[in-house]
Amino acid sequence: MPGFELFGDREREQVQDVLDSGVLMRYGFDGMRNGHWKAKELEAALSAKMKSKHVHLLSSGTAALTVALASAGVGAGDEVIMPTFTFVASFESILALGAIPILVDIDDTLTLDPSAVEKAITPRTKVVMPVHMCGSMANLEVLQQICDQHDLLLLEDACQAIGGSYKGKPLGSIGDLGCFSFDYVKTITCGEGGAVITNTKAYYENAHKYSDHGHDHVGHDRGAETHPFLGYNFRISELNAAVGLAQLDRLDEFIALQKKSYTILREALSQVPEISFRKVPDGGEENYSFLSFFLPSEAIAQQAHKALGEAGIDACFYWYNNNWHYYRKWEHLSQLESLGKLPQEVIEGLPDYSKADFSASDHWVGRTISCLIKLGWTEAEIRERAKKIAEILKKTI
Ligand SMILES: *Cc1c(COP(=O)(O)O)cnc(C)c1O
Repeated sequence: MPGFELFGDREREQVQDVLDSGVLMRYGFDGMRNGHWKAKELEAALSAKMKSKHVHLLSSGTAALTVALASAGVGAGDEVIMPTFTFVASFESILALGAIPILVDIDDTLTLDPSAVEKAITPRTKVVMPVHMCGSMANLEVLQQICDQHDLLLLEDACQAIGGSYKGKPLGSIGDLGCFSFDYVKTITCGEGGAVITNTKAYYENAHKYSDHGHDHVGHDRGAETHPFLGYNFRISELNAAVGLAQLDRLDEFIALQKKSYTILREALSQVPEISFRKVPDGGEENYSFLSFFLPSEAIAQQAHKALGEAGIDACFYWYNNNWHYYRKWEHLSQLESLGKLPQEVIEGLPDYSKADFSASDHWVGRTISCLIKLGWTEAEIRERAKKIAEILKKTI
């Protein structure tokens, strides 16, 4: 998955443009910048690539999620449905607005289970936030139907799935809002960065203002701009955007490389009859950043993961015991360990997750191993690796 593996001359050239003018900020300084508007250029390029009318870049994927929710009017006491298997950024962005993260089970897609989503809807629900973990997507058609029926917003967290698609549309572009991360370990990177995409002009207008202290961005004098509502600073810098421009140009190349290695690995593991692969919804195409598969039991999965590590096979993940990606280790959330006092709405509204039953999620995640697909592997390396992984799995099972 990591675009940093192929950082090179194109990235350097883009960054050099910014260094040459010395304008590191995305707004203003029109006369000094030698015509370079890296953030604006990257927004235009992403808009074309994601077939989405509006794009706004931000300082991170977490900022993108926060700004996406804020731009749609989510605030204190609103409930946002999110999966048990994701990254902590999901609930961080919700809590940052005083809204309440409602954790919901996943299914064999390793993303939100639509029937569990339906059961979790209350009069306070505002948003359903599927997270397209490890390169593959939720059943967006069914989730969209549920959202339409209950008048909810669909926000796709596509931070780990850029370049994937569903029924011919880029992931991230299907819901009311979509978010990407360009942090250092994502498929394409800006060093740090993120983006919100949407076809709804009002959300875009809110997003660019909210993420820049409420600036209305009218005219050419920042100091004279007005502030229609309260905002914050989630701006991306021109240096980061410049790296992203070079990387976005290479997205198709990265996905093709991943697909090739993924296919070799998948073919090798298909020879192990006891394992099955993560379900990809009909009409979905992954971005091939991971190959995720199910072992026959939690105990065998734990043994297999251990055996892979001992054999020196790096980058295979067992999420069930992971501190950052699965609800079981999120005591700081269930205990609300915050530095300062949280909004009363959160204190009163957060379900008691220490007592929650997510056995349906445990059933899948307890048996899952995900192998990262690196860009730098040669065909010989991936073939050797695939052979070794298959042998280890056969021995363990
Ligand atoms: C990386 C990631 C984020 C957050 O992105 P940052 O740019 O690191 O803030 C959010 N959601 C998911 C699923 C991610 O993988």
